[in-house]
Amino acid sequence: MRTIQSKLPKVGTTIFSEMSALANKYGAINLSQGFPGFEVDKVLTSLVTKYLNEGKNQYAPMPGILELRMTLCNHYNKIHSCDINPESEITITAGATQAIYNTISAVINEGDEVILFSPAYDCYAPAIEVHGGIPVFIPLQHPDYSIDWNMVKEKINSRTKLIMINSPHNPTGSLLTKKDLEQLQEIVADTDILILSDEVYEHITFDGAKHESVLAYPELKKRAMVVYSFGKSLHVTGWKLGFCIGPDWLMKEFRKIHQFTVFSCNSPMQYAINEYILKHNPFSQTSEFYERKRDLFLTSIKNSRFKTIPCKGTYFQLLDYSEITDMNDVEFAKKLTIEHGIASIPISVFYPDLADNKVLRFCFAKEDELLIKAGKLLCTI
Ligand code: PMP
Ligand code: GLN
Repeated sequence: MRTIQSKLPKVGTTIFSEMSALANKYGAINLSQGFPGFEVDKVLTSLVTKYLNEGKNQYAPMPGILELRMTLCNHYNKIHSCDINPESEITITAGATQAIYNTISAVINEGDEVILFSPAYDCYAPAIEVHGGIPVFIPLQHPDYSIDWNMVKEKINSRTKLIMINSPHNPTGSLLTKKDLEQLQEIVADTDILILSDEVYEHITFDGAKHESVLAYPELKKRAMVVYSFGKSLHVTGWKLGFCIGPDWLMKEFRKIHQFTVFSCNSPMQYAINEYILKHNPFSQTSEFYERKRDLFLTSIKNSRFKTIPCKGTYFQLLDYSEITDMNDVEFAKKLTIEHGIASIPISVFYPDLADNKVLRFCFAKEDELLIKAGKLLCTI
């Protein structure tokens, strides 16, 4: 048989699949892979049933159903005072993952450099590498995981094509502030550098902090592809639906890729989501809902030997275990799963050099009783 040359020789199965499988194998509480552990709103699922029964079972238009695109554009145009065109500047995608992959595929050529920040969500670098691009990692400043913008300036050169940002940030729970986006705006102003902004946790910010979107910054918006996920905003990660907003000249190229990767996405769910957003205002309580869960989890581990790293957004809490052991984080995460019945995600896997700061990520998008039970277990370690 002829052999093939792997395009991703160093890539194996993602840490999320690995830790979820380990949790299942050992019957551990699974706070590793990020997905909600509670029921989806019945109103939303019955809307899906309604549209299935109404016969919305054939291909949606390539960029997504117009009604949903209009609803989303009206929403963002209102909150960010911008004017996204529903015809040409938004595309419904098979989750944020596909939106990220498509954007990179559309804009990255052999040898282009992409600046991204570590720890970085796992799908970023492989998508860059598959297209012959070069990921240029800049570490976020541990332990508050902020960006050193001087370092960004130093890394920019004539090959820099794209800067990828993610706020609220997975895995650290940090947020980019207005000052951060203003600095980014200043840095790219006289360049043709593009931005890919991953804003999938836009509705999950805490302690009164507000999500700062690239869409509200004209100098960034005009060069940015911004990705979102209904998986996160509506608690339906298994539906794999999201969308991407970007200026028409970039969206045109994005859609060329989109039409040959999926062509279009699941139509009954698009109709259901549209009606749900229009009639049920689903995003207004999300931050409050998760802030209570974060606080419940934090209270339940108060007497443990883990040190908390502030979580300002997302549904992930980082815990520093350096006072407990000097084991590396991958080994410790496995030990916790197998011997103590609680699964988490080791943070080193999100660094190109596997930097180990002795930090684990715990997902608190779970039922209250499970969070309390998890907390009790963590207090025994
Ligand atoms: N970006 C980040 C930061 C994420 O955490 C995730 C996964 N949840 C995604 C992108 C991918 O989202 P989706 O499941 O919609 O593909
Ligand atoms: N985004 C989810 C997380 O961070 C995982 C998604 C996946 O399994 N690919 O845990």
